[in-house]
Amino acid sequence: MKRIAVMSSGGDAPGMNAFIRSVVRSAINRGLEAYGVRRGFQGLIDNDIEQMDKRSVSNIMQRGGTILQTARCDEFKTKKGLRQAIRNLNFHGIDGLVVLGGDGSLTGALSLHEAGFPVIGAPGTIDNDLGGTDMAIGVDTALNTVLDAVDKIKETASSHQRAFIVEVMGRNCGYIALISGIIGGAEMICIPEKPFELMDVVRLVEKAYVSGKTHCIIIIAEGANHSTHAIKKTLDARIEEAGFETRVTILGHIQRGGSPTAFDRLLATRLGAAAVDHLIRGESGKMVGLVGNKITTTPLRQIIDYRRELDMSLYDLARSLEF
Ligand code: ATP
Repeated sequence: MKRIAVMSSGGDAPGMNAFIRSVVRSAINRGLEAYGVRRGFQGLIDNDIEQMDKRSVSNIMQRGGTILQTARCDEFKTKKGLRQAIRNLNFHGIDGLVVLGGDGSLTGALSLHEAGFPVIGAPGTIDNDLGGTDMAIGVDTALNTVLDAVDKIKETASSHQRAFIVEVMGRNCGYIALISGIIGGAEMICIPEKPFELMDVVRLVEKAYVSGKTHCIIIIAEGANHSTHAIKKTLDARIEEAGFETRVTILGHIQRGGSPTAFDRLLATRLGAAAVDHLIRGESGKMVGLVGNKITTTPLRQIIDYRRELDMSLYDLARSLEF
């Protein structure tokens, strides 16, 4: 192994820069040359690949986003796209690739491995829906961003005696909604894994009002079985029962941005170095992860075939703390 490349792919997540820095510096300090692929698999196909040195990753640890940028690229899913990507890697004499991203990106990484190109994956997604790791890079920062927003919304909600519906990311996975709901003290948490009726929300808000609460916070994942809009419409139509006036806040892309937390910086740094070590050892087709505070590897095939289930005991915990 003489030359390795690193890329970020899929949705951006805070901590990606700390990961890139760790891969580049670890590779160079172990006597390898380091390359960066811009715009994920799209850059691999377009040959947007450049050598990186230690200075090119200076002063990026604290920055959100990714200096290599990221993209979604359907062409890579085709045989032609895959072949072109491998041709470009060979053109630069690259012997191994590190792919940082979510399940889609790791599926792409697996297709490279199955085509015979050495690749190690790493979990970079704010959804925390990947097996093989307790936490993915970016999750902790996204949670802290949501928490900060919920704390602020609670203050204004209390002042005006309002109910607030706060929509957070999570199309298929309610992790962010569930955890931020627990630690933000939400009165109700709506997640795709736990379908609910619109009247359940009305009853809950009414209960909060009648019990004398000055606010009511509902945290909803974007993939929940009823939309934020439908909940708001129902609560508005039944204001006599619900008691509170309702407002909506959709947090959207602010959840992806921001300076990574201490946890994400350390996780990204540990996983970046581990990815390089595994490539040097001749391993491929695996994802590095953090399990019980130990750096581990799991076959990419297993990561993709067995999506991580949300720990529903945490949902029960939230319910057990009900007002
Ligand atoms: P996030 O969790 O933030 O959405 P992700 O990595 O899951 O990140 P996707 O858009 O699903 O994001 O995938 C990123 C890229 O990975 C795709 O644009 C495509 O280039 C590649 N990819 C996804 N699925 C496959 C596949 N089945 N085969 C090959 N490449 C794939």
